[in-house]
Amino acid sequence: MDRVYFDWNATAPLRPQASAAVTAALGIPGNPSSVHGEGRAARRVVEAAREQVAGLVGADPALVTFTSGGTEANMLALTPMVETPGEKQPRDRLFVSAIEHPSVRAGGRFSAAATDELPVLPSGVVDLARLAAKLKTSKRPLVSIMLANNETGVVQPISEVAQIVHEAGGILHVDAVQGPGRIAVNIGVLGADLVSLSAHKIGGPKGVGALVRRSADLHLTDPMLKGGGQERGLRAGTENVAGIAGFGAAAKAAAAGLADEPARMRRLRDLVESRLKAASPDIVIFGEGAERLPNTTLFAVPGAKAETVVIAFDLEGVAVSSGAACSSGKVQPSHVLAAMGVDSALAAGAVRISLGWTTSEADIESLIGAWIKLSESLGKGQRGLAA
Ligand code: PLP
Repeated sequence: MDRVYFDWNATAPLRPQASAAVTAALGIPGNPSSVHGEGRAARRVVEAAREQVAGLVGADPALVTFTSGGTEANMLALTPMVETPGEKQPRDRLFVSAIEHPSVRAGGRFSAAATDELPVLPSGVVDLARLAAKLKTSKRPLVSIMLANNETGVVQPISEVAQIVHEAGGILHVDAVQGPGRIAVNIGVLGADLVSLSAHKIGGPKGVGALVRRSADLHLTDPMLKGGGQERGLRAGTENVAGIAGFGAAAKAAAAGLADEPARMRRLRDLVESRLKAASPDIVIFGEGAERLPNTTLFAVPGAKAETVVIAFDLEGVAVSSGAACSSGKVQPSHVLAAMGVDSALAAGAVRISLGWTTSEADIESLIGAWIKLSESLGKGQRGLAA
């Protein structure tokens, strides 16, 4: 059976350009810190990738720090030890939105007592009035709000957030992991001070990411990994040259794909939603009223259980994801839907479909065919019992 993949927000398949770049880089014997020819060849690969990643978000390449992924980029950013020319004192409070990825909700290197949560509206958009009010409780806030939510795809009004944060003397970190390749991401336009990226969401390899600074005036004075001084002292350890090369190639391809991939994904995603609505009139699509990524749909039908739906899809050869986070084998209710005020019984049925650049209309037909088949059995079995 041919399988169809609808879990691009969890990870995107490797782009061929990234695969080629990884393979080529694996053949380079040198350490990028070495001065000989082999070392310089490895250095050239790392610096070319740095330019490609910087290009994806309109940043200065010198302000891109490679990490082991989005999680590490978030951890590196969320520290009290951020200095600007006007403020050398540590940040006194961290504010994170209630819908952040767990790697942000964990609070980085702030204590739980110094971390505060920002509510979102039922649409899934951060409550800007509450943000402005909460920032008054801090002298030197650090704020972390994601560009686009991995479960709902809801896009946050980051440039407005940046204005509010900066007026309050704050620094803004944006977890932009789900954005590039799907929407235009420019660090200057966003007004974010720090931006986290991850290679595997844009068709690069897993296990590599970056933290990008908007200005050289912002200093992270207590990096997590200290040692050999790599990455301008911000992240010690010999660089993951092959992973970085793949990240660079994926960034270049994602930037080029912006011309047509988002519009294609949006057309197919809208087709998914109209077909789902036709098949299941009682379906709820979360965040539908807000601006969303063009590739994401999070939906539920009342009475269905997400685990059952995901397994049933899998048996039909369709890979989708439950909207709820799965940790230690136990499906937890989604903190994102809870923050949006969604009833927990409905949230327990949330299923995410996320598309990418190779998704075809035939894939959508397979998805909808599988849904019609399994929703009939849900109607007879699980849904009937729950009703
Ligand atoms: N932030 C968001 C919004 C994500 O969706 C993810 C990936 O699931 C991460 C951070 C973590 O990225 P990584 O898997 O590269 O550590």
